[in-house]
Amino acid sequence: MTSRRDIVKELVSKCLQARDMAYCPYSRFPVGAAILTADGAIITGCNVENASYGLTVCAERTAIQRAVVEGHRQFTAIAVTCDIKDHFVGPCGACRQVLMEVRRRFYDRHEHYAVIRK
Ligand SMILES: [Zn+2]
Repeated sequence: MTSRRDIVKELVSKCLQARDMAYCPYSRFPVGAAILTADGAIITGCNVENASYGLTVCAERTAIQRAVVEGHRQFTAIAVTCDIKDHFVGPCGACRQVLMEVRRRFYDRHEHYAVIRK
């Protein structure tokens, strides 16, 4: 049986791996996200920028969109990381809006959100 602590460690690990995949030549601000589905899958995302900044997709939304495409609708937790070490950086307004939408679908209503600094 996998402990909750092990699941969180794996979520964080995959979040950090996702950050390494970020496509951010304009901002040079890599972000990774990992969302835990109710059935235990972890779906990752990274920010994918575009020269037209408005077309950039953040890591959080990439992870959620990938999860939906893969058939997941219930979520338990999400971890997000960036490479700023000394300050808390929260999600942007667009991501907060999307997170609010899926928040209703968090499986046990004990949603968890973590921003990791590493
Ligand atoms: Zn965002």
